[in-house]
Amino acid sequence: MAEGLLADGPAQGDRAWVTLVTNPDYATGARALLRSLVLSGTGADLVVLHTDVAAEHLAPLKALGARLVQVDLLPTGAEFNAAHARDALHARAAFTKGTKPPFHTPLDNFAKLRLWQLTEYRAVVFLDADTLVLRNSDVLFDYPEFCAAPNVYESVADFHRMNSGVFTARPSEATFAAMLARLDVPGAFWRRTDQTFLETFFPDWHGLPVFCNMLQYVWFAMPELWDWRAIRVLHFQYEKPWADHDKADRLRPLIDLWRAYAGDGPVPDAAGLPGPSR
Ligand code: UDP
Ligand code: MN
Repeated sequence: MAEGLLADGPAQGDRAWVTLVTNPDYATGARALLRSLVLSGTGADLVVLHTDVAAEHLAPLKALGARLVQVDLLPTGAEFNAAHARDALHARAAFTKGTKPPFHTPLDNFAKLRLWQLTEYRAVVFLDADTLVLRNSDVLFDYPEFCAAPNVYESVADFHRMNSGVFTARPSEATFAAMLARLDVPGAFWRRTDQTFLETFFPDWHGLPVFCNMLQYVWFAMPELWDWRAIRVLHFQYEKPWADHDKADRLRPLIDLWRAYAGDGPVPDAAGLPGPSR
């Protein structure tokens, strides 16, 4: 296996859903995500890239059939790491639209790029650990590199930007090396971390429909865009459904759905859920 990765077992197929977990909070998210993937009836591997997270938090992921791949954070330099440290990044590029939870470490996001080292797979789809796959979406493995959905959650102006919580990729050590060479250049500051980097690295990114990465704020900010029957991936960007927060009341039906996936009981068919009031 490539340098910086250590898998707990071999690949089963040539396609994989990949997520990232660098602390116990995101392991909580990943468990719900993996359960949603299993319930979707996917035929692809489930891969969790993880850093040094305690075994007790990884065991529930393993129990759902995930292949665990331990990764090092990227070998970025001291200046790069200081520029992307949580306090420094928040001071230089404040988040004004929502709140990042205290357990979110911006520098850790870049470890997503390690999925390009999973060359045992022909195609992969990355999913943030704060997402749920609401119906079978294996069709995404037939999409080319690099596809992502727009970062829409407030207005049509958002269509100019992409969101890196869901994207399609083709693992390649050459691509990974080219990324490392572009990433940590003198003075580099990627204000939205991997998202800004990927948007720059793939300026001609292909657009996925918003339903492949439906951001939770759309529920209250753009309710006319909401369609439970069309949503493939629901994404809890900013505040997380497993932590209490000041938007929880406005997002209650979404949080209830997440909790159903996070539990062990039945989950409702999302296609039958009532939409937001307008
Ligand atoms: N992540 C992680 N640890 C961190 C920060 C991020 O494991 O400290 C991973 C996790 O998979 C997470 C993703 O990177 O879902 C991106 O972060 P997040 O979803 O919190 O960002 P947002 O969607 O709010 O922009
Ligand atoms: Mn996310």
